[in-house]
Amino acid sequence: MTAKVPPKSSGGLTRSQVMARVKSTDTAPEMTVRRALHAAGLRYRLHLKNLPGRPDVVLSSRRVALFVHGCFWHSHAGCRRARMPSTRQDYWGPKLARNQERDFTNEHALRNAGWNVLVVWECQTKDAEIMHRTVQSIFELPIQNALRSRKHRCGSSR
Ligand SMILES: [Zn+2]
Repeated sequence: MTAKVPPKSSGGLTRSQVMARVKSTDTAPEMTVRRALHAAGLRYRLHLKNLPGRPDVVLSSRRVALFVHGCFWHSHAGCRRARMPSTRQDYWGPKLARNQERDFTNEHALRNAGWNVLVVWECQTKDAEIMHRTVQSIFELPIQNALRSRKHRCGSSR
């Protein structure tokens, strides 16, 4: 496996090339999100296997599970990148529906366990304004006490 980040545009890829990318973890959209979080001073962990759906980014201190979803694979509603292929629709239809169902189940399980679930769509990672708003929305969430006392205590009482 190479660590190369694929080129920004996926327009030139064949379907099988796109498919080969689906399981990869360090995709360009993911890297964009991580960079934005890092630049804002937020610390995170990646791909926590013990959480439903294995969220791409986890910010434990704000109890945020963040997914960076490919528009095609996760059927971004109304997005041109999520257009159904013109061939083999009997294959893609059920496959994409299953993905969507899995996303729904995972997000539901995470929310039930007290997580704030954020989804950043692939197409949104190209929009600086949306990225900015996403990062800001994380700052508006309360810091979890247990972690705050351990990590961010400046004026400690002892
Ligand atoms: Zn999209």
